[in-house]
Amino acid sequence: MPLEISPNLDALFVRLAHPARIIITTHQKPDGDAMGSSLALWHYLNKIGQRPVFISPTTYADFLRWLPGTDQALIYTDHKERCDELIDKADVIFCLDFGELHRAADVGHRIARSAAIKVNIDHHILPPEKAFADYWYRDEKASSTCELIYDFIYHHNPDNLLDTDTATCLYTGLVTDTGAFRYSVNPRVHEVAAQLLAAGVDIDRVSFHLFSNFSENRTRFMGYALYECLHVLPQYHTAYFRLPLEAQERFQLREGDTEGLVNFALGIEGVNFAILLNEQPDMVKISFRSLGKFATNLFAAHFKGGGHHNASGGKSTESLAQTEQRLLALLEEYKTQLDYEL
Ligand code: 5GP
Ligand code: MN
Repeated sequence: MPLEISPNLDALFVRLAHPARIIITTHQKPDGDAMGSSLALWHYLNKIGQRPVFISPTTYADFLRWLPGTDQALIYTDHKERCDELIDKADVIFCLDFGELHRAADVGHRIARSAAIKVNIDHHILPPEKAFADYWYRDEKASSTCELIYDFIYHHNPDNLLDTDTATCLYTGLVTDTGAFRYSVNPRVHEVAAQLLAAGVDIDRVSFHLFSNFSENRTRFMGYALYECLHVLPQYHTAYFRLPLEAQERFQLREGDTEGLVNFALGIEGVNFAILLNEQPDMVKISFRSLGKFATNLFAAHFKGGGHHNASGGKSTESLAQTEQRLLALLEEYKTQLDYEL
């Protein structure tokens, strides 16, 4: 679907012209795009005189802690009662970088019960029956929610209201969701990036925080995972990581430390489909990535998940071994769909 804007968006803009109790939220375990888009909107709304509150459903990765405004974020799991009260009393709730309320965990459940006006700005594929918002600004073809927030801000106010902090947050989401301008790139991505740089983004600083500031443990863990946990299945053009919890404990991994690992599997010659089975205390979190025509989001539906064509996620409440067996059985079913040349 191309850009879809709800027809009555002007009514939302009228509402935003008056003081409102505004909440901004995003999906649980927010990534660079989720944090970047939420904080950028937070900066913008402050600039037009609102006093929004950004509620993150869970904590975010350490490598995003430097983003301007993170110190203002309320972590739902740490401040449950206060957040519940804020959600219940809100006039407007912005839901960014997710389309299905369950992706925001307990925050999503609370929003479902709230009488507030709900606004959804997102770039995930969304089955119509899952839509929950009163207003929406959605584009499955957009590189990132940050690209859409840029457009939303411009749509709302074409005067130059992008300051350096807002632009830095948006640029971060553009970089992280495109794998540093490698995936989902279209001319618009570079146009937006150019505008953000013109607004004063310090690229060296962003790159340092995103790519040159990993802990020694995380780097050694990557080596361990590549050597011990990677399985390549040429008959399915697939490679997957099987990551037991004990390995993550051994390397004292922190939130966000496994980000990017799955892409190493996709980098192998002949591999069209890459998977990360990431054992957690209560479930196995699964990441799917593909190159070309294989639709990972349809495959992810077997694991209660979804996402984009080439990048999606899901979960399993079975054991790691059982999840792996189910995955292998499914790969056999998908064998012909996985057999193509790029
Ligand atoms: P990741 O593998 O990095 O966790 O997620 C990759 C992409 O899939 C992201 O765009 C993310 O929003 C989406 N995604 C991850 N997990 C789920 C899920 O359980 N359900 C849906 N619908 N999307 C997901
Ligand atoms: Mn995103």
